[in-house]
Amino acid sequence: MAVELNAVVSHRIEVASGLIILRVAPDGWELPAWESGQFAVLGLRESAPRTMLSDPDPKSADSDKLIRRAYSIASSPVERGYLEFYITLVQSGALTPRLFALQPGDRVFLGKKISGMFTLDDVPAGNNLILVGTGTGLAPYMSMLRNELDCHLDLHTVVLLGARHSWDLGYRGELIAMQRYCPTFHYIPVISRPDEELVPWSGQTGYVQDLWDRGLVAQAMDVEPSPETAHVLLCGNPGMIEGMIERLGEQGFVEGTRQEPGQVHAEKYW
Ligand SMILES: Cc1cc2nc3c(=O)[nH]c(=O)nc-3n(C[C@H](O)[C@H](O)[C@H](O)COP(=O)(O)OP(=O)(O)OC[C@H]3O[C@@H](n4cnc5c(N)ncnc54)[C@H](O)[C@@H]3O)c2cc1C
Repeated sequence: MAVELNAVVSHRIEVASGLIILRVAPDGWELPAWESGQFAVLGLRESAPRTMLSDPDPKSADSDKLIRRAYSIASSPVERGYLEFYITLVQSGALTPRLFALQPGDRVFLGKKISGMFTLDDVPAGNNLILVGTGTGLAPYMSMLRNELDCHLDLHTVVLLGARHSWDLGYRGELIAMQRYCPTFHYIPVISRPDEELVPWSGQTGYVQDLWDRGLVAQAMDVEPSPETAHVLLCGNPGMIEGMIERLGEQGFVEGTRQEPGQVHAEKYW
């Protein structure tokens, strides 16, 4: 029997070409309790149409088979009516071209179980928090920032975010507003393709790892981050995560595992 598409798209925001924010509301059932940093599963049938921005399907797709993928939740767990997702288009991908074709009112599968260990549970109180991401790796941090983080005058929160272009920096307005209202919150975006900007970009260029090497985080916090005073979260592109873990290891940071706590916590998207 075909799996039911048990949720409805309630809102769709086109951030840039190939980048959307989707809000998905359960239809006739309650969202379970969940924690910021966790992910849910979205799904569509193989027969669902693909956006014209994507590559055509390699095979004829007319089956009822459900394609499912994990997506970090960007909304706050306090919001009970919907889950918000921040999604990038993989042109050759199986699911994202179909998710990009969705419009408000369309039906989609939303897994009833919300999972994941990439939460603030293993970050003891009293630490500076450094949230490093690429692209849609910002999603779990948006949930944490919207829900869990208070503005402490003696503790810093840094969001270090890499994207290709300035227009790919989703949630920029919200993050800039947070920075305005909290002197210890620092939003440091970096773009890797400044030559393609339509208006000259006066911010940071390169990759998030470069900014770490250039000491931008220490500069923002006014103190060198150390394993004694900071926890670092890494989310998104596996290359960035591996590069950061190598650098952090040289500075004495340890990646936490199920058995051993550490000051580095990572979520790879592929
Ligand atoms: C825990 C978890 C949370 C995730 N959260 C998000 C999220 O919040 N937003 C999001 O956009 N994706 C997220 N992903 C990735 C997502 O699950 C899918 O892998 C992705 O959307 C591609 O699906 P697809 O079927 O279109 O591509 P597939 O046909 O599955 O092709 C997979 C290939 O696409 C590439 N790819 C996968 N993800 C990305 C990406 N984000 N950016 C660029 N290339 C990629 C990789 O080369 C990968 O091998 C998450 C993955 C995990 C494991």
